[in-house]
Amino acid sequence: MSSPSADPWVDLRQVTVRYGRVQALDQVTLCIVPGERVALVGANGSGKSTLLRVLGGLADASGGGFQCNARLRQAMLFQRPHMLRTSAQNNVALALWLRGVRWRDARPQALAALQRVGLQGIAAQNARTLSGGQQQRVALARAWALRPDVLLLDEPTASLDPHAKREVEALMADFAASHGAAGPAHPVTMVFSSHNLGQVKRLASRVIYLEHGRLVADLPVHDFFNGPLPEAARLFVKGELA
Ligand code: ADP
Ligand code: MG
Repeated sequence: MSSPSADPWVDLRQVTVRYGRVQALDQVTLCIVPGERVALVGANGSGKSTLLRVLGGLADASGGGFQCNARLRQAMLFQRPHMLRTSAQNNVALALWLRGVRWRDARPQALAALQRVGLQGIAAQNARTLSGGQQQRVALARAWALRPDVLLLDEPTASLDPHAKREVEALMADFAASHGAAGPAHPVTMVFSSHNLGQVKRLASRVIYLEHGRLVADLPVHDFFNGPLPEAARLFVKGELA
């Protein structure tokens, strides 16, 4: 008998996304099961953000088949987090309140989430006045508070300085090692895009390389960095590491 977590979270069959004449995704076939840590890599414009938006239900496919286990809750993070002009604690609490948590419960839960990312000390500060790294940590706390089963991150550390990058990366690792609201049998699934191949090596279990909207390589992380690659992917890795 297979365990429930072996059922796919998403199953994409030849998914295509078009924006006018631009083919942002071109017949992408891909299955992700719970607990995977998938890195999306590829040049600018290769379709990473579009794929993340499709996975997060924020963009519709123009063609192909898309199945998703809707019972698994998702949260999404972007390169530049959107912060409301209120305290860090309220930014997290509002997300909980929008999900139906009473305000008087949301406030302490928000504080606990901020504690988890080491930001309890600035809980009362206006989130818009925080540094980029702190804002990204508030965004992670906000995601965390919602106890998602799936975390989608679009270049979450791209605009951060090296120190903040490391902090956010450590929190991503921590997040990936946890489990969602459904319990320990349901490990968190993480899909993130990144240009930082060191980060990909440290965080991913599987690497997907996209080029012009096509999925060119889809390999376990060890094989991606040590095995033979399609020529385009090999040149990309060489270029990014240089
Ligand atoms: P990446 O995240 O890898 O840089 P994107 O998914 O953002 O790639 O973009 C893939 C392609 O789709 C690019 O050519 C981009 O210009 C185009 N594209 C993405 N979003 C839109 C949009 N909303 N309208 C028009 N074109 C878009
Ligand atoms: Mg992008």
